[in-house]
Amino acid sequence: MIKKYINGAGITQNMPKIKLEGYLCLRCNHKWVPRDEKLPIVCPKCKSPYWNTPKKENE
Ligand SMILES: [Zn+2]
Repeated sequence: MIKKYINGAGITQNMPKIKLEGYLCLRCNHKWVPRDEKLPIVCPKCKSPYWNTPKKENE
């Protein structure tokens, strides 16, 4: 079976590729896409407020 993907008008459109921008937690390597444009305060996974700060040696 061949799946057909037809949009409302039956016209094949060139969908622009949407680049998903996300963040990467430097502590737990968790990647996520933010809901708004604000910089996340904490990593949603490990809740670290230093998710975007590389770990320091004396930490
Ligand atoms: Zn994290």
